[in-house]
Amino acid sequence: MISVSLAGNLLAVGIASQSLVPLRDVARLVEDPALKRGWLALMAAVVTCMALVAVKAFREAHRSLDADGAAQIVIHVVSGLFVVAIARLSRRTARNVVRLEGFEVQAFTDGLTGLGNRHMFVKRLDEETARAREAGTPLSLIVLDIDHFKQINDTYGHAVGDLVLQHVADRIAAATRNADTVCRIGGEEMVVIVPRIDPDQAAEMADALRAAIGAATVPVGDGRAVAATVSLGFATRRPEEGGGSLFDRADAALYAAKRGGRDRVALAA
Ligand code: GH3
Ligand code: MG
Ligand code: MG
Repeated sequence: MISVSLAGNLLAVGIASQSLVPLRDVARLVEDPALKRGWLALMAAVVTCMALVAVKAFREAHRSLDADGAAQIVIHVVSGLFVVAIARLSRRTARNVVRLEGFEVQAFTDGLTGLGNRHMFVKRLDEETARAREAGTPLSLIVLDIDHFKQINDTYGHAVGDLVLQHVADRIAAATRNADTVCRIGGEEMVVIVPRIDPDQAAEMADALRAAIGAATVPVGDGRAVAATVSLGFATRRPEEGGGSLFDRADAALYAAKRGGRDRVALAA
């Protein structure tokens, strides 16, 4: 017959084993590899403790239960409950963190195009301006607006207008580097923050964007295709210039491009 001591200790091991699934879930939920390794190491430690308690319980199974043995069982059971509680709380906390991270991504993403939104632009422009100031590296800004977009909406409908917006966003995303930040900051106005490349090269990038968008047509169903052009304002950060002033100059250049006939890049004064 199984002794009280063996049964008590195996009960403690069984309780502790309930922590393994939540601990594995936490290890899956966290993204940082060092954190993942930490949680897996904790799982390994729990399994080792469970094995040690089980081996000891079987070796001492024949002994009659004294006060020390009883106290040890109580300690093992309470420890098992404790580790299960910690593991479950950790899993709930990790799930909440993942959920909040999702909200954070949403808060900085434009729903229609998947680009960054205006909040993202303001944040990234601040960060890149500070970086350019500290490192003395170049920082350029492209502000881009679809030409006669109202006409596209009026002619083909709002849904087609949305397709054109998505197409323009995709073209910009495809033509920019990982280091660049592309955001939709208003209806049909988008920006590209271009850090750490020669201003002449960045200006060429603006014209390449203009050419690529103008050359492509957007299939909108029923065999129809819509063409769109864009106007762009371009500015490079002056020494000691802040992000707000850089944006104002690029935006003023955009309006100069519109006045100049559209489908062109205007360089800021
Ligand atoms: P311009 O060449 O001077 O920029 O002329 P425009 O017609 O592009 O500029 P305007 O500011 O007159 O019109 C912009 C239009 O963009 C009006 C607005 O209804 C439309 N718009 C804004 N946001 C969206 C959107 O999310 N989807 C669609 N389909 N249209 C939008
Ligand atoms: Mg427009
Ligand atoms: Mg506009």
